[in-house]
Amino acid sequence: MKLTFLGAARQVTGSCYLLETGGLRLLIDCGMFQERSFLARNWDSMPVAASSIDYLLLTHAHLDNSGLIPKLVRDGFAKRILSTPASRDLAEVILMDAAHIQEEDAEFKKRRHRRERRKGPHPVAPLYTTCDAQASLKLFKTVQYGDPKRLNEHVTVTFHDAGHILGSATRRC
Ligand SMILES: [Zn+2]
Repeated sequence: MKLTFLGAARQVTGSCYLLETGGLRLLIDCGMFQERSFLARNWDSMPVAASSIDYLLLTHAHLDNSGLIPKLVRDGFAKRILSTPASRDLAEVILMDAAHIQEEDAEFKKRRHRRERRKGPHPVAPLYTTCDAQASLKLFKTVQYGDPKRLNEHVTVTFHDAGHILGSATRRC
């Protein structure tokens, strides 16, 4: 078993862990970095290929746990996202809203650059779009608390109530 910290280490936000076990690559959370000093990390590419991940396990819907899912999907992740039903419902609201904000931010920046007749150092584009968010919502498969979900012959995952926000879960693999 190998666990790699891809975020929320020496910082609070950007929760993202890669757990390699039983022949599977499991990503636990795919959160947005929200501290001002780490915002640029949202634009970094993931150190593992998105298409090589077998499952994404979402602990809960807060943006710092779910906020980069649409970017992961845009970058090639097309497998299942497992969460509780409440987390899936909340993620729909949060991810669609986040995508909308990303699109508006990019438009606002473009307008400002035009008005000020200047160009930023990087092309202005949203981190991800509402289309990316919609595509990621199609990948959700919900699991109930306490209901073991077999991922392969070696790995079974069970979500347990974490008592954090509605739908939040801790899990045993
Ligand atoms: Zn949280």
